[in-house]
Amino acid sequence: MKNSCFDYDLLVIGAGSGGVRAARTAASLGARVAVVEDRYMGGTCVNVGCVPKKLYVYASEYGKGFTDAAGFGWSTENVQFDWPTLRDNKKTEISRLNRIYERLLDNAGATIIHGRARLHDSNVVDVDGQQVSAEKVLLATGTWPFIPPFTGHEHALSSNEIFDLDDFPDRLLVIGGGYIATEFAGIFNGLGSRVTQLYRGDLFMRGFDSDIRAFLAAEMLKTGVDLRFNANPQSIEPSSDGLLVTLGNQGNLKVDAVLAATGRRPNIEGLNLEITDIQYTKNGFIAVDKCFQTAEPWLYALGDLIGGPQLTPVALAQGTAFAHQHYGQGSQAPDLEYVPTAVFSQPNVGTVGHTEETARKMFGDVSIFKSEFKPMKHTLSGKDERSLMKLIVDASTNRVVGLHMVGPDAGEIVQGMAVAIQMGATKADFDRTIGIHPTAAEEFVTMREPVG
Ligand code: NDP
Repeated sequence: MKNSCFDYDLLVIGAGSGGVRAARTAASLGARVAVVEDRYMGGTCVNVGCVPKKLYVYASEYGKGFTDAAGFGWSTENVQFDWPTLRDNKKTEISRLNRIYERLLDNAGATIIHGRARLHDSNVVDVDGQQVSAEKVLLATGTWPFIPPFTGHEHALSSNEIFDLDDFPDRLLVIGGGYIATEFAGIFNGLGSRVTQLYRGDLFMRGFDSDIRAFLAAEMLKTGVDLRFNANPQSIEPSSDGLLVTLGNQGNLKVDAVLAATGRRPNIEGLNLEITDIQYTKNGFIAVDKCFQTAEPWLYALGDLIGGPQLTPVALAQGTAFAHQHYGQGSQAPDLEYVPTAVFSQPNVGTVGHTEETARKMFGDVSIFKSEFKPMKHTLSGKDERSLMKLIVDASTNRVVGLHMVGPDAGEIVQGMAVAIQMGATKADFDRTIGIHPTAAEEFVTMREPVG
């Protein structure tokens, strides 16, 4: 395994979730490993993604929590929110996590090289003028926000900047209808902004089950988000009173800030991949085989960069698999058919497996089970929020091939359900499982009559 012709056995570019996991697992298996990083330790997830986002979701849920509490007898007058407190406490927590990531690599025996990596030649990477060689080079640089080039797009913020605003935006426009747009619309709405969310198509959250998409839209409208479909900005220009956004046939908007959450693209600028024979997928991601090898034999890639689900746990699983494939006893690449995921929208979405649309195409005859209800908490809070749960069953095998939910804690609930789905649970297995009462999750094991 060790090749003394090179400085390292493995050089990882990017200290995000996938890169750090691959590096420290490989190092613990005896490889000589270095990781190059020029920004923050922990990558998108730790610094400008999952972690700070979830902290902000918690913060924003307090807003409605205080209102809900009144029906339970609590008085909560003069409740106030202070943005700098949230932002700065978040910064402190992220710095703590940065140090933990650094320590994880140190403890595993991996070398951290702070600097900007650029491929120099086969097996050689230039880091700010210093050349480092490695038998294998692993690209784990993730993705970067993409903002479409409409007039005035430079006035829009990406998810990289939105966390650390100096001033809280009383009026926020969010462009996009995917994970990030929908989560941030909920966050700032909950914190007290007047939020408008624009999606260019008929119904946002493309790729999710249609019932879930429509139900979430209806619930978000109830929370006060001004959610508009078939709408896209034409231009943004500074005005005396914030930013003026023109929307064509939907008029104009005056806002304090615009968040463009319009997708993420491979973060490969400046890597000098031009010197390689690397191949790309039709969507511009790096093409790899099942051992994460690119078309260039010494060059590997994993995580968001290779175009699967852009999810931290997927990158982590790939990092572990990569290390075991190349420095351990071998491993399969992770099976990505039943990857659970949650959108921390308000209310949450949790999902695992196929949508009704894809299940019908794949399996033909499917049975659909649905339950829609008012969460028990809102019988006293007075709120009109509702939840939806949906199961999709392959009629020929009785296997549950899709499980979807909109409602509080959907991510927590679906994570547990995902184990059953991954194991191939049938509807009969769900039916013979005793519920936990009173919970929302028990609905998943008490749906008896198919609705389609
Ligand atoms: P998504 O791909 O989820 O959504 C991008 C949105 O922007 C879509 O609604 C898309 O519309 C729209 N869009 C794209 N191009 C344009 C354009 N030119 N003009 C107007 N709208 C446009 O990307 P995100 O940036 O929200 O998130 C990136 C990835 O990060 C996600 O796919 C997800 O994997 C991951 N993520 C996961 C989270 C979680 O696990 N909770 C949280 C946040 C991110 P259309 O659908 O029509 O293409």
